[in-house]
Amino acid sequence: MILIDGKKAAAELRAELKEEVAELKSKHNKVPGLTVILIGDLTPSQIYVRNKEKSANEVGLKSEVIKYPDSVEEKTVLEKIQELNSDETVSGILVQLPLPKHIDKQKVIEAIDPSKDVDGFHPMNVGNLSSGYESSIPCTPLGCYLLIKKIEPNLSGKKAVVVGRSNLNGKPMTQLLLKENCTVTITHSKTKDLKAECLEADIIVAAVGIPELVRGDWIKKDAIVIDVGINKTDNGIVGDVHFDEVSKNAKALTPVPGGVGPMTIACLLKNTIDCFKRSQI
Ligand code: NAP
Repeated sequence: MILIDGKKAAAELRAELKEEVAELKSKHNKVPGLTVILIGDLTPSQIYVRNKEKSANEVGLKSEVIKYPDSVEEKTVLEKIQELNSDETVSGILVQLPLPKHIDKQKVIEAIDPSKDVDGFHPMNVGNLSSGYESSIPCTPLGCYLLIKKIEPNLSGKKAVVVGRSNLNGKPMTQLLLKENCTVTITHSKTKDLKAECLEADIIVAAVGIPELVRGDWIKKDAIVIDVGINKTDNGIVGDVHFDEVSKNAKALTPVPGGVGPMTIACLLKNTIDCFKRSQI
């Protein structure tokens, strides 16, 4: 079984991006800029944002974090986004989720200029992705897609099952696999027989949030299995896939941690650079 090393893949992607930033700098005499807005003091959000900033600096991006207290008014955040939208030195804007309850998440997402929407959550980017046009692609499914392509460059005609239909993961993942000419089944909490669906799959992407939901006897021999889940349990962090069981049947499997997670931030950097490149055309 191939253990898909997300840390290594992310380091390789960052190295490629670092070279690309250096080339862009010599061509345009400026570098792509990423601005992250962080509201409140939730520890996981602070850790994510710190890691994003560190990775952005590592590849040579201009990076900035704007922090607000939990009590910040929605209007203040929306005004800041407008300011960043018209700032030419800012290529990508990300508002770290979750937001405090009094701030409307959708309003914030829609305030970001779609051409600077590095999370790929703006309805314009969602629509472009589903129409097969160029768009920003949400970072986690983009990372999953790049990992799958490393194992199997030609996905045409493969049967893929995506477990979970969130806007963040399942839905964009489905679009990426469709674009590669996979036959895709998207499953969710009302799916009648998830095991039977998974048994048909050459590729399974699990993004559910239920520890070890996908079991060893759900896996067709030689399937590629990508585990997006990050679940805290008494035994530490586990994915949505039962690693020990599934590793016996799968051709390739991502571990948790060290699989999809590291690719997510690397893909955020990629999206920032892609936004910059599109703005220079
Ligand atoms: P989410 O928004 O809660 O969506 C979960 C999806 O799973 C929903 O579509 C839900 O179906 C479906 N589901 C729930 N129970 C199910 C069941 N028994 N069988 C089949 N489907 C079921 O979750 P998310 O934001 O996509 O996150 C999923 C997991 O990925 C979480 O563990 C999260 O921590 C992790 N995550 C990891 C990364 C990373 O970088 N690695 C990034 C983001 C998220 P319904 O639509 O019917 O409710």
